Amino acid sequence: MPTFEEAYYKIENKNIEIKDYIDKIHYEKIYCPECLTAPLHIVRKQNVCPYYASNSKQEHLEDCQHYEDYITKKNLNKLIESKNNEDEKRLEFLIDNNLQRAINLLIREETKRNNTVESFISNTTKNQLKASLNEYKYESIPRVSINRLLSKSGEFIDNYIIIWGNANVESKDYDRINSTTGKKFKIRKLIFRVKGNFKFSIQLSENQIKHYKELPQNSMNNGFAVFGLVKSNKGFLELKILTTVHLQYL
Ligand SMILES: [Zn+2]
Repeated sequence: MPTFEEAYYKIENKNIEIKDYIDKIHYEKIYCPECLTAPLHIVRKQNVCPYYASNSKQEHLEDCQHYEDYITKKNLNKLIESKNNEDEKRLEFLIDNNLQRAINLLIREETKRNNTVESFISNTTKNQLKASLNEYKYESIPRVSINRLLSKSGEFIDNYIIIWGNANVESKDYDRINSTTGKKFKIRKLIFRVKGNFKFSIQLSENQIKHYKELPQNSMNNGFAVFGLVKSNKGFLELKILTTVHLQYL
């Protein structure tokens, strides 16, 4: 049974933390903060901090990370470190599909905002997902919304996760010198901000720059999903990505 620290309160279109929950107001009116679909309720038990829970995984949208079981950190790291071809394929399957599901939720949100009919894209992807599901078992990779990233960063440092949401992405190039060989090289920093506030950055190597497709200039509030390893550099969050394929824009 999935558990939560906050819940989506539909009437005011905002998230409610446990400490702000009031039975009279929120009872039977709160939902999963990710898919906004599965109903949540508060669980109060002796000697345990109260928490939110949904009744079952199946009540979540298929694209929600709570719909399936999670891959364990140990198994995910094993796949990442493995040189075995089958493991590599399974890893790519999991990353691709988890990123796609996050993107699907962004599409859903956007179509809702624009008040249009549900995009056909999400349906197409669902079909693709089903086809490939026959090949490998799907498992959820832990996913955090960029808006919740900083408050949850303690949990995620040194873990591979997916960060997703909407952000302004700034791209800056720097020249660096290899201290051993004296050779010059270039790096590119992608800085992700929400409402002007720094959230995290991604550093691209020279090789990754070649494969990275820049966003159109002045494009604001880009929907994105990215898979990588969370690191803290002097208190700032950095995401180390294995390949630019793991950074997807809407
Ligand atoms: Zn959900």
